[in-house]
Amino acid sequence: MYSNDLRPNSLDDFIGQKEIIERLKIMLQSAKIRSEPVDHILFTGPPGLGKTTLAGLISKEMGSNFYPTSAPTLTKTGDLAKILTLLNKNDVFFIDEIHRLPRSCEELLYSAMEDHYIDIILGEGITAKSIRIPLQPFTLIGATTRSGYLSSPLKSRFGIEFKLSFYSIEDLSFIIKKNAEVMNLKLKDGVEIIIAENSRMTPREAIRILKRIRDFAITKNIQEITKEFAKECLKKLGIFLYGINELDKKILTIMYERFSGGPVGIKTLSSLLDEEEKTLSENYEPFLLKMGLIEKTSKGRILTQKAIEFLKYYEVLTS
Ligand code: ADP
Repeated sequence: MYSNDLRPNSLDDFIGQKEIIERLKIMLQSAKIRSEPVDHILFTGPPGLGKTTLAGLISKEMGSNFYPTSAPTLTKTGDLAKILTLLNKNDVFFIDEIHRLPRSCEELLYSAMEDHYIDIILGEGITAKSIRIPLQPFTLIGATTRSGYLSSPLKSRFGIEFKLSFYSIEDLSFIIKKNAEVMNLKLKDGVEIIIAENSRMTPREAIRILKRIRDFAITKNIQEITKEFAKECLKKLGIFLYGINELDKKILTIMYERFSGGPVGIKTLSSLLDEEEKTLSENYEPFLLKMGLIEKTSKGRILTQKAIEFLKYYEVLTS
């Protein structure tokens, strides 16, 4: 039987981000003793590191309802007001990609977060009137891959900001082992390390690779994943050394071939690769920087010696 229930069930189940977990536990304990909601929290960091998962776990620990939303779906203040008025005491309202919230919605949140009320305008022109609606004290959890894009009035209304970091091989290996167990997938010793080393230091990527390996295993009727089989799967998935994928490789190759290693601006890369600037700067750049494959200078990104060695290894460069 193959199962799919892969999310951690409690803060104790959550692997890695130790310091954040410890501080969250204290915040939760204090909120419970005070019978008040947890303070508003902002999670920042690259995609797939566990921001949404943590928000869900906080609500679970508080025994409250969880309302997950994403800023691009909150285009009208009316929609946002509706959710806010539905919240019960201690509920967790989660807004993903909060830096993309329209200005009007953001302004509605100021009084909601600080004083638990919203003012809404009914009608138009001279007949328009403002009415004040009280709200239950709730917790707003915002998540963003771009904390620099958040306005300071909104940022200052969060009680705390937690910056999630990339995962160590050890923590990822543990997550992979646990997920493989849930999937009923047998991994030979050390396979979890190979997957971890190729997961861009990100649990979402580790789980994605594990699922694809499971697909290959099921179709080939393989009962136990060996290192050789895992490596073969990684190759088929277009994953290179360090977990570099096709697009990372394309970025590095273009930087070398077209710009002799840089500096290159993000706009130029975006148009040459036909990828959105946002995708490059949120999903690719943090990993390439963290791996020491590129560096940022005031004039743009440049390739490092490590990147050049990588390109040589894969024979993109011949000398
Ligand atoms: P984000 O909101 O930061 O993009 P998510 O919370 O959606 O990331 O997590 C992506 C995936 O990785 C989910 O399947 C989640 O269960 C898993 N995951 C993230 N962090 C961990 C962790 N520390 N332990 C186990 N699984 C994790």
